[in-house]
Amino acid sequence: MHHQLTDASHLVILKRVEKCAYMTVNPVDWNIFSVKWSRKQWTVDLARKTCTCNKFQIDMFSCSQALAAARERYLDYTSLCADFYKRQTLIDAYLIPIMPVGHPLEWIVPTDIVGRMVLNPLSRRLAGRPGGGGGGLGATCLIFGKDKKMWRIKS
Ligand SMILES: [Zn+2]
Repeated sequence: MHHQLTDASHLVILKRVEKCAYMTVNPVDWNIFSVKWSRKQWTVDLARKTCTCNKFQIDMFSCSQALAAARERYLDYTSLCADFYKRQTLIDAYLIPIMPVGHPLEWIVPTDIVGRMVLNPLSRRLAGRPGGGGGGLGATCLIFGKDKKMWRIKS
């Protein structure tokens, strides 16, 4: 079966469709629905794409409650999912040719770059400077000059 969502997203939707079959939906207005299941209750706004469960707006992907509300309006559930969950978006992302960089041992690196060593400033302590206190490493930026000396810049 051909669907707009990626296979992984479609599987998630199918599980949520099963779950929403047991939910009771009451319309508040054209876009807002009160959804109940067991002793729980949520409010779904299809226009704003929000739900009080928060999954809908955070994931930008239809939650079970939104699917239940969409069922009431005969809405296509793919309209409730962001484009990045859709198959065509994935295809478009890989349309651009990708040039593999190969193994690092096969790289041709200019000689002035080979000698440079770049350390993570957050994991490296400066000699003679214990951590903590005012002006710690968090406020310091380490850079390497042409002479390969390390320079510390306070921000
Ligand atoms: Zn929800």
